[in-house]
Amino acid sequence: MHGLQVSIDQDKCCGSGHCVQLAPEVFDQDPMSGTVILLQSAPTFASHEAVREAGAVCPASAINVMEPALSRGHRGIPSIAATISVGEGPAAVAFSPDGREAYVANYGRWATGAPGRTVSVINTDTRAVIATIEVGVGPSVLTVAPNGATVYVGNYGSAKAPGNTVSVIDTANHKVTPPITVGNAPDGVAVSPDGHRLFVSELGSETRLGTSMSVIDTATNCVIGTLEVGEGPGAVAITPDGTRGYVVNYGTPTDPAGTVSVFDVERNAVIATIAVGKSPGAVAVTPDGKRVYVANHGPFDAPGNTISVIDTTTNTVVATVGVGSGPGGVAIAKNGSRVYVVNMGGNDAPGSTMSVIDTQDNTVIATVDVGRTPAAIALSPDGRWAYVTNYGTNTVAVLDLNN
Ligand code: SF4
Repeated sequence: MHGLQVSIDQDKCCGSGHCVQLAPEVFDQDPMSGTVILLQSAPTFASHEAVREAGAVCPASAINVMEPALSRGHRGIPSIAATISVGEGPAAVAFSPDGREAYVANYGRWATGAPGRTVSVINTDTRAVIATIEVGVGPSVLTVAPNGATVYVGNYGSAKAPGNTVSVIDTANHKVTPPITVGNAPDGVAVSPDGHRLFVSELGSETRLGTSMSVIDTATNCVIGTLEVGEGPGAVAITPDGTRGYVVNYGTPTDPAGTVSVFDVERNAVIATIAVGKSPGAVAVTPDGKRVYVANHGPFDAPGNTISVIDTTTNTVVATVGVGSGPGGVAIAKNGSRVYVVNMGGNDAPGSTMSVIDTQDNTVIATVDVGRTPAAIALSPDGRWAYVTNYGTNTVAVLDLNN
């Protein structure tokens, strides 16, 4: 079974009509009895989120939604192996290079006046939180140095009160060392493969959108340069050979047309700007460096549902892949065969799924449940496990990618 399937139990239906409101192309009601009529048992991809929601809200439990991955025994279809409780509003996750620890940035919840300021450290053998480290306010992104000695945490703060620091964690003792001062609202961090440079994008404040990145010498933790990129820069990724960087630019609140700035790492200069989907929120490079996958999250009140695929030779978009609502995080398998996208959703309808893309033909081959409002994903260095931060439930879902 390659697509989502739906069936109904008409005997249970009480005729509330919720399903028809949510997905009129899939459900109808009998004009006489008011009971549900199924128009499509294998709805098209565009209807999947609405069908899932119909199944969740049906007051009579009359709708059965079957995810392709939920039929057990499909080798290679990810499944949840464990769930780990972390801090409030986990927004980012990264593994140590040896795979023994995972670090989770707990962004918190500004909407309720409770910003986070911690990083949870998970022992990946026991799947227990072994340390909680205090960092700056509103940590939203983090990355681990290639030698595993340091974790860099971008303290985003909020749109009204942006932070301007990167916390530095010594992984040997889980203690912070003096932070690095950067521009407003650091919302993307990446270290060059040789470990010498740290790139930090600066999203800016509500009144003054950022357009820059700070370049930091990791030997001294001093800012040694800045780079002008697009409006509202966020996630950053560096190619495996260390020559190019790709940073997503959200655009402005009134014009969320998203772009990706491509920069030459050595020369510290932007060499191309590529139009992608609205408000792109995540980016990853394939292990061979030939493709870049960009998650077009879109504005929170009108989330997008696509991934842009960039050819790094021409720096052009060569494919656009339909995924779930509000794709918020992306990770690529060690062998480059799969791309995993977590669908965070938007303000009105939080997401709960992960799309699995086959990179050979850039098609979605499975959609699996991962938990409420999945915000970020990282793969273990051995390629076996995916850790997904579920922002809505303060948990990390551990998915077995081999199943
Ligand atoms: S939401 Fe459920 S109860 Fe209401 S019409 Fe649809 S199937 Fe029937």
